[in-house]
Amino acid sequence: MTNAYKIAILEGDAIGPEIMAQAIRVFDVLAAHCDVAFELINAPFGASAYFDHGKAFPDETKTVCDRADAILKGPVGLSHEASKKIPVDEQPERGAILPLRARYNTFANFRPIFLSKDMAHFSPLKPEVIKGGIDILLIRELVGGLYFGSKKRGINGAGLRYVHETLEYDEEQIRQVLVVAFEQARLRKRRLHNIHKSNVLMSSVLWNEVLDEVHEDFQDVEVIHLLVDAAATALCLNPGQFDVMVMENMFGDILSDQGGGILGSLGLMPSACIGPEKAYYEPSHGSAPDIAGKNIANPYSMIGSVAMMLEMSFGMRSEADAVWNAMRNVFESGYSTADLIAASDETKLVSTVEFGDRVISHLSELLAGP
Ligand code: NAD
Repeated sequence: MTNAYKIAILEGDAIGPEIMAQAIRVFDVLAAHCDVAFELINAPFGASAYFDHGKAFPDETKTVCDRADAILKGPVGLSHEASKKIPVDEQPERGAILPLRARYNTFANFRPIFLSKDMAHFSPLKPEVIKGGIDILLIRELVGGLYFGSKKRGINGAGLRYVHETLEYDEEQIRQVLVVAFEQARLRKRRLHNIHKSNVLMSSVLWNEVLDEVHEDFQDVEVIHLLVDAAATALCLNPGQFDVMVMENMFGDILSDQGGGILGSLGLMPSACIGPEKAYYEPSHGSAPDIAGKNIANPYSMIGSVAMMLEMSFGMRSEADAVWNAMRNVFESGYSTADLIAASDETKLVSTVEFGDRVISHLSELLAGP
């Protein structure tokens, strides 16, 4: 019997629709070559949803997401100035992304930081630092910490504006993401870097206590502790030391963008946000308003998010590998999008759509077989 999957498509803002248009072509190719069917249902989400429907995460979108087997989300958000046209509570992170994460308790955010050997020249790091490419799995806790704690602002006793935000975790929230991280470490090199700030933050002290408890069940995995500030340096000086990294929400937000930096572009950063029952997939980066509408955004992050969905939500590992191969083949054939082009004089420039065309063409060949 043909497997049929329902996917909610949330295009998002700025470059979101441009890179989403390339990503969803993958579903057509798969349906044409494999015994699988996809029903794609578009729903408004983000700043555009606020302007059209008065809500960044409208009720109809919630219903579409509730009914979907998985969610594919483009980046949301506007430029700093344009964001001011939206009330603070409806601005896309607070009004759409955080509620989406909370709704499905997507506590484990997988952010691969990967450059194949043949793509190593895209990195701004020296070849002797990159050596054979970069292959890190950064796992970020996604539904706790400072981003989800209670917030208050007002005027204090001295008549000054003040703000109060809380960083809260309970042991179960910490445990569930650490278990996922240990499981991934076990599947890879059995080495886990635990990134924390226990010299300052009590939340990190509890995090590390729970880590020691979880480690009991994963004694074959080596744990290396690193303070988050030192980890930022180490990512630049010696990224090869890392295999799986795990950290709380805000540390992961920041260090994963640094991951995009050492690859050469945030456009190379897909991600998966996994909950107990539902997952959504999105590029790690934002909506890049500075390049929107120019057909120059790199759709690798969005197409890679589809590859992660195929593997993690639908168990389609070989099809996911074909998507990765098709994308890497574009770069390895000497083509790249504008964000990466400065790194190599010989690289031939392709637009967002042309990158998609090449991926689709390679993918069709791969799936058609010899
Ligand atoms: P950004 O990630 O959108 O862009 C940072 C830089 O990376 C820009 O120069 C941009 O052009 C470049 N870039 C990002 N993705 C690219 C791609 N696929 N191809 C080529 N270049 C790419 O960060 P920002 O400018 O700080 O934020 C823009 C908006 O996105 C803000 O409103 C922010 O709140 C929002 N945002 C949304 C998400 C999300 O949807 N998950 C995440 C981060 C930021």
